[in-house]
Amino acid sequence: MADVRLIREYARGPQVVVALKSLGEVERRGGVDEVLATVATRAGELFGGDDRHLVHVCAGAECTRLFLDRSRAGNRRWCDKLACGSRANAAAYRRRKSGAHPCGNVQAGPYDS
Ligand SMILES: [Zn+2]
Repeated sequence: MADVRLIREYARGPQVVVALKSLGEVERRGGVDEVLATVATRAGELFGGDDRHLVHVCAGAECTRLFLDRSRAGNRRWCDKLACGSRANAAAYRRRKSGAHPCGNVQAGPYDS
């Protein structure tokens, strides 16, 4: 709930001003406070809207990112498959490899059956 209050508080500030400069080109005006207020407003729209169930925390061991899972199956695990996904797969491979018997057979782990 503290995060909701924080988002609401920051969203009250002046927003980034977006002005049409020409067709296909916009100009954004504002400093750090305006950017923070705009990000907080968008976060409020996301977390208070219908897509809030699509927000997930990345499964990467050292990652703190949130991401929107718009995949058809809805089972995405990482914010970025090439970064966090590859690191997780490499770590899993190293774990499997370290448990391998010298003949190449993988020994069953404590949770394998
Ligand atoms: Zn991640």
